[in-house]
Amino acid sequence: MKLTIIGCTGSMSGPHSAASCYLVQARGYDPALGAERTWNVALDLGPGSFGALWNHIDPADLDAVVFSHCHADHMGDVISLHVHRRWGPARGQAPLLLAGTCNLLDRIRQIDGCPPEEDYALDFRIHSLEAGQPLECGPLRLTPVEGWHSVDAFGVRIEGPAEAEGEDALQEGEAPSTVNMLYTGDTDLCPTMIEGARGVDLLLSEAGFTLADEVEGIHMNGVKVGRLASEAGVGRLVVTHIQPWTDPAVVVNEVRQTWSGPLDVAQSNQVYTL
Ligand SMILES: [Zn+2]
Ligand SMILES: [Zn+2]
Repeated sequence: MKLTIIGCTGSMSGPHSAASCYLVQARGYDPALGAERTWNVALDLGPGSFGALWNHIDPADLDAVVFSHCHADHMGDVISLHVHRRWGPARGQAPLLLAGTCNLLDRIRQIDGCPPEEDYALDFRIHSLEAGQPLECGPLRLTPVEGWHSVDAFGVRIEGPAEAEGEDALQEGEAPSTVNMLYTGDTDLCPTMIEGARGVDLLLSEAGFTLADEVEGIHMNGVKVGRLASEAGVGRLVVTHIQPWTDPAVVVNEVRQTWSGPLDVAQSNQVYTL
């Protein structure tokens, strides 16, 4: 399984990155093709991310887009995806699976400026996520985890095959081992997120706040992010969704009060191979 940071700036696009979007890829068998291929799932599609995604894959090759929640900084570029599928190069392809909270279709219409009769049936297949109910996409299993945010929001736990390279390359007939990650979406620290992140190889966690922000139920500061990683016992922590006006060093200092394991600050185009 491979994770590519497409966009990672908090709450908006920033000078160094688009807003939230993460590409998860894994090799797996495609019954329709009768062969193995790379499966592509995007987590969120924030402002500026559709263009940035294009640097890594042809958007026509997406198998699904999973939206953690319906704030515009996580889904604004769905309008670009729509144009690409209805009138652009992906025209005529089977409808693309879009998964999100139950108001996803309404929110797409609002952002797109479309009337209630627009159902996007030609372009999209809309799926409502429910906490604990996994969504299968090729070799990837995506399980929504209930978050604590200002609107309904999910984290997404993803299980998939380990990427076997070089000396670790699989022998014929050998099955890859399973690896997993959790993307928090936007959330304050809550028991469901700790449980969802339990033992993952990689935790991709938002840090929308710093200790200077005292409001509860929206984002985590760095101390809470570190606590999430420690209590869940994760392998590696990647901190993302830092506001463009926040010095990442401030967040790292906060995280280091509660987490001593491997730590990165997300940067666009960064690739993690699990
Ligand atoms: Zn956000
Ligand atoms: Zn949000």
